[in-house]
Amino acid sequence: MKKINDLTGEKTIAISGHIRPDGDCVCSVMALYRYLKKEVPAARIDVYLEEPPAVFQVLDDVKDIKSEFNTDITYDVFFALDCNEERLGDAQPIFARARRRINIDHHISNTGCGNEWVVEPEKSSTAELLYELMDHSLVDEEIAKAIYLGIAHDTGVFRFSNTSPRTMEIASELLKFGFDFSSLIEKTYYEKTYLQSQIMGRAILGSVRFMDNRCIVSMVSRRMMEFYCVGPKDLDGIVNQLQGIKGVDCSIFMYEIGTLEYKVSLRSNGTVDVSKVAVKFGGGGHVRAAGCTMNGTYHDNINNLSQEIEAQLKQASLQEGK
Ligand code: AMP
Ligand code: MN
Ligand code: MN
Repeated sequence: MKKINDLTGEKTIAISGHIRPDGDCVCSVMALYRYLKKEVPAARIDVYLEEPPAVFQVLDDVKDIKSEFNTDITYDVFFALDCNEERLGDAQPIFARARRRINIDHHISNTGCGNEWVVEPEKSSTAELLYELMDHSLVDEEIAKAIYLGIAHDTGVFRFSNTSPRTMEIASELLKFGFDFSSLIEKTYYEKTYLQSQIMGRAILGSVRFMDNRCIVSMVSRRMMEFYCVGPKDLDGIVNQLQGIKGVDCSIFMYEIGTLEYKVSLRSNGTVDVSKVAVKFGGGGHVRAAGCTMNGTYHDNINNLSQEIEAQLKQASLQEGK
């Protein structure tokens, strides 16, 4: 697929992204939704996604998202964005039934799924990749806003190394629509509630460094989340804060999602390929940002993760001739 342009005649189209949707996922889904409404106006278009963080209400169409997945419809086309089939969660059976199953993603760990796919790991975000697949004459201010925000979220606001010259060119084209980018980024990326800031402080206070301070780990338990009246959506940004600490090559953040079950986020400055670490435990992601879900005690999980990380750090030291 070179462009999203062969949908004429398709009557029912669904779009979805991954469980626990992040900024790139929500914004990509919203951008494609708006775009397809213009490209195939006669089609029924449905969006299936877990309820996104409230901050994404800055996008008008978020209200159209269906977070109930009990449907018998067999769609003509299903777009799975920013993930592989497994991470579609409850939308997976709907995807599996669809006639055309199209996967658009930028995760290096994704080998592609469905019967048509575009997976380009060198793209900063699924939003950037989608923009390249769109007919730009159909892009309006609302689509531009969504693409811009998706890119901003996955690049840490144009800061991470996945930001390419082309990423900046696209951002520049999008800014010409004149939306208030500064307020959008402030509201969706930087602004934290008091309780979100408190739990971040608590997580940093409880962090532990190991492997000569090259790695750092922290964990938030369900009890802590209850105490601060926060949920998983309120923990965004903690792992990036840990990774920003001077001298840290690799950071691990975990939060409890069930009994002996943890959602793990990994970040790296590039010395360790955390996508490889996450894949070992059934997850995936990118070289510098990846995630997985792990069963077992907190300490067992740290032991298992740190073995993989240590092996890579040793390898890197050998290559540097240290
Ligand atoms: P997170 O720490 O959850 O924000 O994830 C970091 C990056 O890894 C994001 O690009 C995620 O989409 C990706 N990721 C997280 N968990 C998984 C997983 N279980 N499988 C594949 N990719 C993941
Ligand atoms: Mn994502
Ligand atoms: Mn992404």
